[in-house]
Amino acid sequence: MTNLSTKKIWQALESIKDPEIPVVSVVEMGIVREVIVTDDSVRVTMTPTFSGCPALEVMRREIETAVRQLGIANVTVETVLHPPWSTDWITDEASEKLRQFGLAPPQKHGGDLISVAFLDVAECPRCGSKNTSIKNSFGPTLCRMIYYCHDCQDAFEQFKPL
Ligand SMILES: [Zn+2]
Repeated sequence: MTNLSTKKIWQALESIKDPEIPVVSVVEMGIVREVIVTDDSVRVTMTPTFSGCPALEVMRREIETAVRQLGIANVTVETVLHPPWSTDWITDEASEKLRQFGLAPPQKHGGDLISVAFLDVAECPRCGSKNTSIKNSFGPTLCRMIYYCHDCQDAFEQFKPL
């Protein structure tokens, strides 16, 4: 094994963007779970935001390529579905990037999804207003809901807490 550190691999993975939200990386989204370096191989585990996500294969290939580019031929990318991905794994920096992208970031729930669902308040990513209401709970993808901001008088998407 060369003098490659786990840290370098994480840095390389940070350059891979989420295929659905190109402003955040797969690391910031909490998709990459573990990087395990052994003698001559690297194993990366990832948990997709949604199982059966079409972007899964794309991400897997990009992770493999990124590690290979560091000179490591023996790369395994493993998909781990348990525990399931949670929006709580999104870093604070990534939440801020989502907001700037115009997508209201999900509320942190610490496993208490029911309370979050009852709160049912989304903050408008444009003006910060909480004077919003659900317009349609079936957003463009399974993971997003459409809200309406009564101050901007415009719709926005919120990442559904999961
Ligand atoms: Zn607004």
